[in-house]
Amino acid sequence: MGKPLAFKEQESLTSSFSEVGAGLSGVLSPTIYRCPNCRKVYKVVLGPGSAFLGEGERTCLRCKTEFRDRSEEWPLIDALDRFFFLCPGVVCGWMLLGIVVGVVFYEAGWTLGENVPLLLPVAIIFVAPLIAWFVFRGFQVARSTRRFNLNRKVKTA
Ligand SMILES: [Zn+2]
Repeated sequence: MGKPLAFKEQESLTSSFSEVGAGLSGVLSPTIYRCPNCRKVYKVVLGPGSAFLGEGERTCLRCKTEFRDRSEEWPLIDALDRFFFLCPGVVCGWMLLGIVVGVVFYEAGWTLGENVPLLLPVAIIFVAPLIAWFVFRGFQVARSTRRFNLNRKVKTA
Protein backbone atom coordinates (compact mmCIF):
# COMPACT_ATOMS: atom_id res chain seq x y z
CA MET A 1 0.00 0.00 0.00
CA GLY A 2 1.13 3.58 0.54
CA LYS A 3 -0.01 4.50 -2.92
CA PRO A 4 -2.30 7.49 -3.37
CA LEU A 5 -6.03 6.90 -3.52
CA ALA A 6 -7.95 7.87 -6.65
CA PHE A 7 -10.18 10.94 -6.62
CA LYS A 8 -13.86 10.24 -6.66
CA GLU A 9 -16.40 12.93 -7.38
CA GLN A 10 -20.07 12.89 -8.06
CA GLU A 11 -21.30 15.26 -10.70
CA SER A 12 -24.37 17.09 -9.57
CA LEU A 13 -27.22 17.25 -12.05
CA THR A 14 -29.49 18.77 -9.43
CA SER A 15 -29.71 22.12 -11.19
CA SER A 16 -31.06 20.62 -14.42
CA PHE A 17 -33.22 18.06 -12.62
CA SER A 18 -34.49 20.22 -9.79
CA GLU A 19 -38.15 19.57 -10.57
CA VAL A 20 -37.66 15.81 -10.69
CA GLY A 21 -36.18 15.80 -7.22
CA ALA A 22 -32.81 15.54 -5.58
CA GLY A 23 -33.24 11.84 -4.80
CA LEU A 24 -33.62 10.87 -8.42
CA SER A 25 -30.70 13.04 -9.52
CA GLY A 26 -28.55 11.32 -6.89
CA VAL A 27 -29.30 7.99 -8.53
CA LEU A 28 -28.73 9.27 -12.06
CA SER A 29 -25.67 11.44 -11.51
CA PRO A 30 -22.46 9.91 -12.77
CA THR A 31 -19.59 9.28 -10.38
CA ILE A 32 -16.22 10.19 -11.86
CA TYR A 33 -12.91 8.64 -10.87
CA ARG A 34 -9.64 10.45 -11.56
CA CYS A 35 -5.92 9.85 -11.33
CA PRO A 36 -4.75 11.46 -8.04
CA ASN A 37 -1.73 12.99 -9.77
CA CYS A 38 -2.80 14.44 -13.12
CA ARG A 39 -6.59 14.11 -12.63
CA LYS A 40 -7.07 12.16 -15.85
CA VAL A 41 -10.53 10.51 -15.78
CA TYR A 42 -10.22 6.73 -15.87
CA LYS A 43 -13.70 5.61 -14.97
CA VAL A 44 -17.22 6.99 -15.06
CA VAL A 45 -20.13 5.10 -13.53
CA LEU A 46 -23.80 5.99 -13.49
CA GLY A 47 -25.11 6.59 -9.99
CA PRO A 48 -23.39 6.89 -6.63
CA GLY A 49 -22.06 3.32 -6.66
CA SER A 50 -18.51 2.92 -5.47
CA ALA A 51 -18.25 -0.86 -5.66
CA PHE A 52 -16.51 -2.30 -8.65
CA LEU A 53 -14.29 -5.29 -9.06
CA GLY A 54 -10.59 -5.26 -9.74
CA GLU A 55 -7.18 -5.83 -8.29
CA GLY A 56 -7.33 -2.46 -6.51
CA GLU A 57 -4.33 -0.93 -8.22
CA ARG A 58 -3.96 0.89 -11.47
CA THR A 59 -1.29 2.77 -13.38
CA CYS A 60 -2.32 6.05 -14.95
CA LEU A 61 -2.07 5.92 -18.74
CA ARG A 62 -0.96 9.53 -18.94
CA CYS A 63 1.45 10.19 -16.07
CA LYS A 64 2.32 6.58 -15.13
CA THR A 65 1.50 7.18 -11.46
CA GLU A 66 0.50 4.02 -9.61
CA PHE A 67 -2.53 4.47 -7.39
CA ARG A 68 -5.31 2.59 -5.62
CA ASP A 69 -8.41 2.74 -7.79
CA ARG A 70 -10.97 1.93 -5.02
CA SER A 71 -11.80 -1.45 -6.51
CA GLU A 72 -11.68 -4.73 -4.61
CA GLU A 73 -12.11 -8.35 -5.57
CA TRP A 74 -15.47 -10.00 -4.94
CA PRO A 75 -14.40 -12.21 -1.98
CA LEU A 76 -13.22 -9.10 -0.09
CA ILE A 77 -16.22 -6.79 -0.39
CA ASP A 78 -18.99 -6.78 2.20
CA ALA A 79 -22.62 -7.77 1.75
CA LEU A 80 -23.91 -4.23 1.24
CA ASP A 81 -21.39 -3.49 -1.50
CA ARG A 82 -22.24 -6.83 -3.12
CA PHE A 83 -25.89 -5.86 -3.14
CA PHE A 84 -25.17 -2.47 -4.73
CA PHE A 85 -22.86 -4.11 -7.22
CA LEU A 86 -25.61 -6.48 -8.38
CA CYS A 87 -28.53 -4.09 -7.96
CA PRO A 88 -27.47 -0.46 -8.32
CA GLY A 89 -30.18 2.19 -8.14
CA VAL A 90 -30.91 2.09 -11.85
CA VAL A 91 -31.50 -1.68 -11.77
CA CYS A 92 -33.64 -1.48 -8.61
CA GLY A 93 -35.72 1.27 -10.23
CA TRP A 94 -36.13 -0.79 -13.39
CA MET A 95 -37.32 -3.86 -11.42
CA LEU A 96 -39.73 -1.73 -9.41
CA LEU A 97 -41.10 -0.15 -12.59
CA GLY A 98 -41.42 -3.61 -14.14
CA ILE A 99 -43.42 -4.89 -11.15
CA VAL A 100 -45.72 -1.86 -11.18
CA VAL A 101 -46.31 -2.06 -14.95
CA GLY A 102 -46.79 -5.84 -14.67
CA VAL A 103 -49.45 -5.47 -11.97
CA VAL A 104 -51.26 -2.74 -13.93
CA PHE A 105 -51.33 -4.84 -17.11
CA TYR A 106 -52.33 -7.95 -15.15
CA GLU A 107 -55.18 -6.15 -13.39
CA ALA A 108 -56.37 -4.52 -16.61
CA GLY A 109 -56.35 -7.91 -18.34
CA TRP A 110 -55.54 -6.46 -21.77
CA THR A 111 -55.03 -9.07 -24.46
CA LEU A 112 -53.52 -9.21 -27.93
CA GLY A 113 -56.19 -10.77 -30.07
CA GLU A 114 -56.83 -14.42 -29.26
CA ASN A 115 -56.19 -14.98 -25.55
CA VAL A 116 -52.60 -13.77 -25.71
CA PRO A 117 -52.17 -11.54 -22.68
CA LEU A 118 -50.49 -8.22 -23.40
CA LEU A 119 -48.58 -8.90 -20.19
CA LEU A 120 -46.38 -11.38 -22.06
CA PRO A 121 -44.52 -8.98 -24.41
CA VAL A 122 -44.38 -6.40 -21.62
CA ALA A 123 -42.76 -8.95 -19.28
CA ILE A 124 -40.21 -9.83 -21.97
CA ILE A 125 -39.33 -6.14 -22.48
CA PHE A 126 -38.62 -5.78 -18.76
CA VAL A 127 -37.02 -9.14 -18.04
CA ALA A 128 -34.67 -9.41 -21.06
CA PRO A 129 -32.35 -6.52 -20.07
CA LEU A 130 -32.32 -7.79 -16.46
CA ILE A 131 -31.18 -11.24 -17.59
CA ALA A 132 -28.48 -9.64 -19.74
CA TRP A 133 -27.43 -7.48 -16.77
CA PHE A 134 -27.16 -10.38 -14.30
CA VAL A 135 -25.32 -12.58 -16.80
CA PHE A 136 -22.87 -9.71 -17.34
CA ARG A 137 -22.42 -9.14 -13.58
CA GLY A 138 -22.17 -12.89 -12.91
CA PHE A 139 -19.36 -13.08 -15.44
CA GLN A 140 -17.54 -10.19 -13.71
CA VAL A 141 -17.96 -11.81 -10.27
CA ALA A 142 -16.64 -15.16 -11.55
CA ARG A 143 -13.65 -13.46 -13.17
CA SER A 144 -12.91 -11.45 -10.00
CA THR A 145 -13.12 -14.54 -7.76
CA ARG A 146 -10.79 -16.46 -10.07
CA ARG A 147 -8.31 -13.55 -10.16
CA PHE A 148 -8.43 -13.30 -6.35
CA ASN A 149 -7.75 -17.02 -5.91
CA LEU A 150 -4.91 -16.92 -8.43
CA ASN A 151 -3.25 -13.96 -6.69
CA ARG A 152 -3.61 -15.62 -3.30
CA LYS A 153 -1.88 -18.75 -4.59
CA VAL A 154 0.95 -16.65 -5.99
CA LYS A 155 1.38 -14.83 -2.66
CA THR A 156 1.33 -17.94 -0.44
CA ALA A 157 3.52 -19.99 -2.77
ZN1 LIG B 1 -2.18 10.50 -14.05
